[in-house]
Amino acid sequence: MTEDKKFFEKQKKALEKEKEKIEEKMKKLKKYPSYGEDEEDSLQEMEDFENNLSIENQLEYLSKKINRALKAIENGTYGKCSACKENIEHGRLKIMPYADLCVTCQGEQNKGRKRQSR
Ligand SMILES: [Zn+2]
Repeated sequence: MTEDKKFFEKQKKALEKEKEKIEEKMKKLKKYPSYGEDEEDSLQEMEDFENNLSIENQLEYLSKKINRALKAIENGTYGKCSACKENIEHGRLKIMPYADLCVTCQGEQNKGRKRQSR
């Protein structure tokens, strides 16, 4: 097994775990709509703009990203930045296995978003 494949396998497991957590939270959210207001753990790494979304939207957004990442692993396109097509730093993927932008492009996007909201 190549290093890359090993990394993909690890990321896949991390994504599946994350997905389970999110599904669990969504279930709870439906049962107790106020649940999750101070739940931070898996959402703490979300970017600024995402903090303005409701918990439910955040979870839906994350679960979409996770599904996309899982598909990308299957297709062998995982870990590529969706904007500049360069490889996303492994360190970043370890923290955020569903990241689809590299640090540089994410930074650009955040900047653009802030400018727009002003
Ligand atoms: Zn990029």
